[in-house]
Amino acid sequence: MSKVVKFGGSSLASAEQFVKVGNIIKADRDRRYVVPSAPGKRFPKDKKVTDMLYSCYATATGKGGREKMIAELNDIKARYTEIITGLKLNVSLEDDFKKIAEDFLNKSGRDYAASRGEYLNGKLMAAYLGWDFIDSAEVIKFKENGEFDSDKTNEILSKRLKESVHAVIPGFYGSLPDGKIKTFSRGGSDITGSIVARACKADVYENWTDVSGFLIADPRIIDNPAGIETITYKELRELSYMGAGVLHEDAIFPVRSEGIPINIRNTNSPEDNGTWIVESTCQKSKYTITGVAGKKGFCSINIEKDMMNSEIGFGRKVLQAFEDNGISFEHMPSGIDTMTIFVHQDEFMDKEQQVVAAIHRLADPDTIEIEADLALIAVVGRGMKSTRGTAGRIFSALAHANVNVKMIDQGSSELNIIIGVANEDFETAIRAIYDIFVTARI
Ligand code: ASP
Repeated sequence: MSKVVKFGGSSLASAEQFVKVGNIIKADRDRRYVVPSAPGKRFPKDKKVTDMLYSCYATATGKGGREKMIAELNDIKARYTEIITGLKLNVSLEDDFKKIAEDFLNKSGRDYAASRGEYLNGKLMAAYLGWDFIDSAEVIKFKENGEFDSDKTNEILSKRLKESVHAVIPGFYGSLPDGKIKTFSRGGSDITGSIVARACKADVYENWTDVSGFLIADPRIIDNPAGIETITYKELRELSYMGAGVLHEDAIFPVRSEGIPINIRNTNSPEDNGTWIVESTCQKSKYTITGVAGKKGFCSINIEKDMMNSEIGFGRKVLQAFEDNGISFEHMPSGIDTMTIFVHQDEFMDKEQQVVAAIHRLADPDTIEIEADLALIAVVGRGMKSTRGTAGRIFSALAHANVNVKMIDQGSSELNIIIGVANEDFETAIRAIYDIFVTARI
């Protein structure tokens, strides 16, 4: 059995955290490949090394000048020195920092700058464990246009991994065909972990962070919500408003193609089982719903036209108005003579009049009405398919909580029900739904 383990920035923010991570790795011989992030925050007001690197590079290439850059680089060096001393490692990063300073002044690129956080932490982790270090620039490949090159990476990386029984592969970056460093988007070490798991055909991809997995609802709205033991990839996608901050969305694809499960774990509480993200499962979720999540800040555009249902191509023309203006839509419930498009208010606001004019021009509707300040809530659960009355319970709970429902959309997969409410009713609605399914457990 082999496991790939990725540790997030807060799990590697200090020597103390490194020791916890080392113990976790050593506790299971199957944990063979480690993907570290850069050191994150040690306390809430602390800075992440990645952010320090971005700002140091801006200083180096902007008006800040050499002196100021060196001062900022010294603060970054201090973060690593603290770890080296705390772990009593026989490692010096002096030469690395000299090279980084030179490269910054030679404008080596923002991505290169940010990647040094993971690169240096990977070196320390390899020294601490006594494992091989693999520079991700050699094994994670991007295409000339900046897209991740999945096939090439898989070929090179799987070959390279076979040469090391144990290795550390820093997260977040790789290289372009010309050798320049390129990073994934923020939080991208999750993606590297998934790529490594795919390349070595791991049995599990463990993603260690500072929470014990996903929660059924947002803890800022529900006090101490219950955790999710198992969730499918599809459910997680439906709850994508929720996953933010725990797992990078793109981290799912590499492992999903190989059917490798992801286990989200807590470095500060390794005894917790965390959340399993799987392709499919016969494990029943404890409650009818797996999770409830949502987001404020949507707008609905309600379009009416007599006999709309018999006009071929009407929907396409309306959607074209959005496409032409570069606006993606979130949901599209429809009636006989109406269709409603839900969009993100901040994306739509500046272009609303262009879009309205384009709808008139392309589809010639009778009326168009816009409503702002709406929230969308996704109630998701594979258990809904086999349970009667789920929708009934949701809407009676919302009625009892005095929440007016503005939109209902149930996918035919019966995996989710999407509900539109006013922004101001958002928290009340989430609480009502959580209470009826989890607290009251009916
Ligand atoms: N260090 C990078 C960031 O802060 C990548 C990561 O931690 O996943 O975004």
